[in-house]
Amino acid sequence: MSSRLLDGRELASRLRRELQHRVAALGSQQAGDDANARLIPSLAILHDGAVEAAELYAASLDRAARAVGLPAQLIGTSDAAAAIDRLNADPDVAGIVIAQPFADPPAARRLVERIDPTKDVDGATPTNAGWLARGEPAFVPATALAVVAMLEAHGIEVRGRRAVIIGRSAVVGRPVASLLLERDATVVVCHRATRNLARETRRADILVAAAGSPGLVRAEMVNRSAVVIDCGINAVPGGIAGDVDFATVAPVVRAITPVPGGIGPVTPMMVLRQTVEAAERRASAARGQQLEDGDGRRLIGHQGVNQA
Ligand code: NAD
Repeated sequence: MSSRLLDGRELASRLRRELQHRVAALGSQQAGDDANARLIPSLAILHDGAVEAAELYAASLDRAARAVGLPAQLIGTSDAAAAIDRLNADPDVAGIVIAQPFADPPAARRLVERIDPTKDVDGATPTNAGWLARGEPAFVPATALAVVAMLEAHGIEVRGRRAVIIGRSAVVGRPVASLLLERDATVVVCHRATRNLARETRRADILVAAAGSPGLVRAEMVNRSAVVIDCGINAVPGGIAGDVDFATVAPVVRAITPVPGGIGPVTPMMVLRQTVEAAERRASAARGQQLEDGDGRRLIGHQGVNQA
């Protein structure tokens, strides 16, 4: 049997083109309504300059934003708290992302909690995490949204299916669980204390691996009708590897994402999509079409959660 390859680069290119159109539409709309307000609200990306991986991610997000026509500002600041306060108050800023990890994780946590939830386009704040957990519109961590975007792009049915997730982190496992639950999957979340992981994963119609353990999922842990989504990005000698042993698993499942070239390229597109959504809401609010009662909560939402 040959499985279907779920290509993230192709999906990312399509999403990039869609976002380019939306950003262009936003620009012409603003120029039409108010000659003095031609600026498309921008994305601010903060990093502490101390961890190379975060710096690389910040730089790649900056390039991706510019490629869709979204102004981006890279801020590597020693006074990040003041920078966030300034960005929160700046109407020309639609989204704020903190590129992690930081050298000082508690400091990063305090900064995240300072972000205005209506500008939290990577779904990092406890406010958005809470709304997502309640099944309400929220900004969502980008990798989790990328998992759903990948399933949707390939027409993979979620409703009523058994989704097994390996990993329960706040950035991947938990938000993936919330999104799939909201789409009526039966969700099982596995973690380090799960007894007999293989027994759980073999029952998955959709298996999402987000463990940070290269090659954790092997052929004997999957069933032939499974769709396997690999979120792992693990540095190994000679490059990066996913959490799934692609060489042995790919031939025995229905569909699978590669690493690299699967969820990775789609993730920054999800940050940008949420930034564009935030900018669109701000633009319509500025035109007085929303927020007559000053309810900032309506600036938040995404296309991801099924409200039915
Ligand atoms: P994390 O370390 O915060 O969480 C890992 C989770 O996996 C934990 O809940 C842990 O209990 C579970 N786990 C680990 N080993 C396990 C095992 N042997 N059996 C069962 N459960 C196990 O990691 P994270 O931040 O969620 O990242 C997970 C992976 O996803 C990493 O490889 C990371 O690089 C990658 N990641 C990718 C993207 C992307 O854009 N594609 C974004 C974020 C993270």
